[in-house]
Amino acid sequence: MRLFRITGIFFLIILLHGCEEPVREDPFVGLGAARWDVGKSANFILSDDRFTALELEIAYMEGFRPTNFMMSEMTNFLGEVALKPAGVRIVEKEIPAGGEEFYTTSAIAELEDQYRESYNEGDTVSVFLLVVDGYFMQNEEEYFTIGAAYRNTSMVLFGKRIAENTGGFRRPGRGNLEATVALHELGHLLGLVNIGTDMVVPHEDPDEDHKYHCDNEDCLMYWAVETSNILNFMQNDVPELDDNCRNDLRANGGR
Ligand SMILES: [Zn+2]
Ligand SMILES: [Zn+2]
Repeated sequence: MRLFRITGIFFLIILLHGCEEPVREDPFVGLGAARWDVGKSANFILSDDRFTALELEIAYMEGFRPTNFMMSEMTNFLGEVALKPAGVRIVEKEIPAGGEEFYTTSAIAELEDQYRESYNEGDTVSVFLLVVDGYFMQNEEEYFTIGAAYRNTSMVLFGKRIAENTGGFRRPGRGNLEATVALHELGHLLGLVNIGTDMVVPHEDPDEDHKYHCDNEDCLMYWAVETSNILNFMQNDVPELDDNCRNDLRANGGR
């Protein structure tokens, strides 16, 4: 009897093993993992639990290469807030001019589908930044949009807006404006504010029009930072994250 029972269990194990589902594809790498909503990859970008390295792919339209200052600010920022012991690297490439005056969100997504080459792979999480040669279609009446985060690892800068609002009298330098808006959009990909990264202390802007932004107007994640309103109060330096935003990132696996 005892032998039978042991043999029975043995067969059962073999049977269960045989019924095991086929090995599934890793849902956190490749194209599929770059099609989620903004904020959904916050922990992957911040922590070293799943990905220990980060690659930022920048695809810019002819004539709109971001400044070296912006790129180094992005590397520094990621080095400060994210845990990536295997490093942060930027790969950049020029893509043909689109020649459109306005770009819709779906046109932007199509451009990404066409030109993005870097996706999560192995130990590396990938973030994509597109720089287009026109304006955003969904502009508000009283201000215009300089940048946007539109998928979990995707963001866009509207190069024409940046070019025409920098460098003149009483206007910020191009590198400063670019870096400020790019870091703000990166902040959204990191789940700020309350969009993928939980708030340690409530600090989301109570105004419905400014959801997912910080209530502190000195913070990088203040709503006006990605719009033309920034031109009214921009200082010489790129705004920093305030303590509330900083603590949220730490609590979600960041540095
Ligand atoms: Zn924003
Ligand atoms: Zn903040």
